[in-house]
Amino acid sequence: QPPHVSAELGQTLGRLGQTLRDQVPAAGSAWGGWLPPGIHPDPRPPDEADVVVVGGGVVGWSVAYWLKVLEGRFRRHGMKVLVVERDPTYSRASTVLSAGGIRQQFSLPENIQMSRFSASFLRDINEYLGVPNEPPIDIQFQPSGYLFLASLEDAAELEATVQLQRGGGHPTVPPPPLPMSPPGLEDEGWFDPWTLLNAFRRKATSLGVHNCCGEVRGEEWGGWAQGVCSHCSQIYMPDSLEYQPVACSIVVNAAGAWAGKLLEAEGLPRDLCQPPLPIQPRKRYVFTWHCPDGPGLSCPFLVDTSGTYFRRDGIAGNYLGGMSPPEEEEPDPSELSVDHDYFQEQVWPRLARRVPSFESLRVRGAWAGYYDYNTFDHNGVLGAHPRLENLLVAAGFSGHGLQHSPAAGRALAELVVRGRFESLDLRRLGWARLEQGEPLRERGVV
Ligand SMILES: Cc1cc2nc3c(=O)[nH]c(=O)nc-3n(C[C@H](O)[C@H](O)[C@H](O)COP(=O)(O)OP(=O)(O)OC[C@H]3O[C@@H](n4cnc5c(N)ncnc54)[C@H](O)[C@@H]3O)c2cc1C
Repeated sequence: QPPHVSAELGQTLGRLGQTLRDQVPAAGSAWGGWLPPGIHPDPRPPDEADVVVVGGGVVGWSVAYWLKVLEGRFRRHGMKVLVVERDPTYSRASTVLSAGGIRQQFSLPENIQMSRFSASFLRDINEYLGVPNEPPIDIQFQPSGYLFLASLEDAAELEATVQLQRGGGHPTVPPPPLPMSPPGLEDEGWFDPWTLLNAFRRKATSLGVHNCCGEVRGEEWGGWAQGVCSHCSQIYMPDSLEYQPVACSIVVNAAGAWAGKLLEAEGLPRDLCQPPLPIQPRKRYVFTWHCPDGPGLSCPFLVDTSGTYFRRDGIAGNYLGGMSPPEEEEPDPSELSVDHDYFQEQVWPRLARRVPSFESLRVRGAWAGYYDYNTFDHNGVLGAHPRLENLLVAAGFSGHGLQHSPAAGRALAELVVRGRFESLDLRRLGWARLEQGEPLRERGVV
């Protein structure tokens, strides 16, 4: 047999084996039941790691990936990174329950710059996250645009930010020829959140990142003296009081909507909890519907003046959308059931007012997920805790964390590896604003 035939056969068998391993649940695994394809946490965490990342959502895995990328250039010996995820089915993780939108239309330069980078990252995703001998990543990026409708009063505000957006977040750019034109269709639209999460995870794992299933509990960190948190994270096994201590130098809190809770734990010295990390789960519904006469392929991700939003879901007359409630009508976040009356009474009438053909839509389904909501100013918190320099946070992106995850992960990894933000100046997203009580207002919040 010629050698290339057996090599090809070997590769094919290898791929088949991987597919089987991806599809068949890990027998006797601690968490039991079905796991998403490709998720195989190590049965036990290692005894020690340089960095423990709490939370295996898109932000946590992005941080882990970038740590390995940056470590390669600057250290002779690899950095041991461990991602801890308490629910490998991701049943409540924001990432997989999101609407998948990406836009350049923000009002803060930091958010615009993160979106800029993310759009190019998604376009070149196989350059960044491709793994040799694995199928290429199809992120299903639909560059159909993102359209904010504005009332006459709000139009001036939107117009003011267009110049900033067209300059990529840098204010010193000459006025654009079309003042109301956003940066262009090609960097806005939507993509598949699951694919991005899995691509980060697969690549990071291939670079040597460890992962395990378990819960990190803040109160167990202990040892808070001298401006550093404990050198030992206790990782609780699922549904068990059993825990495994993991000695580590740095902890990254990427626990999404639960990032604030992680630092609220009883038993932590009180001054360490001040200011509190103002990140909470806020329940948001996504409804899906069918409407054969609805807007066609050229329809962008649309945000109406009423606050409702929708986008196409495929090409067969299906759509998805929703609306954030006013602050005083926030639904109970303790569970993720869907209030179908909310669609009938609040969302549908507004949608039909904007798109008359939606009067005859047929609801197909719905789900609820959590915004990782920063109650202080709706922006991510990125950086080291003011009194614990080895505890860093990357959370609280409040409805835009999926699209900003490539840039946020890189920024956090730069802080860890190089001690400062290098690619983008994101210092204003740090803790200082929480301490000083100075919110960083973002007008483009959906
Ligand atoms: C309905 C909806 C629509 C959205 N639409 C968009 C959109 O169009 N565009 C966009 O950019 N963003 C959108 N978002 C926001 C986006 O999904 C989030 O900002 C982003 O996914 C946050 O990622 P994350 O990794 O921080 O959080 P998650 O994906 O929630 O991951 C955090 C993980 O941490 C784990 N965890 C928590 N505590 C612990 C612990 N103590 N120990 C171990 N593990 C722990 C959790 O189990 C979870 O899996 C939307 C969100 C929702 C809910």
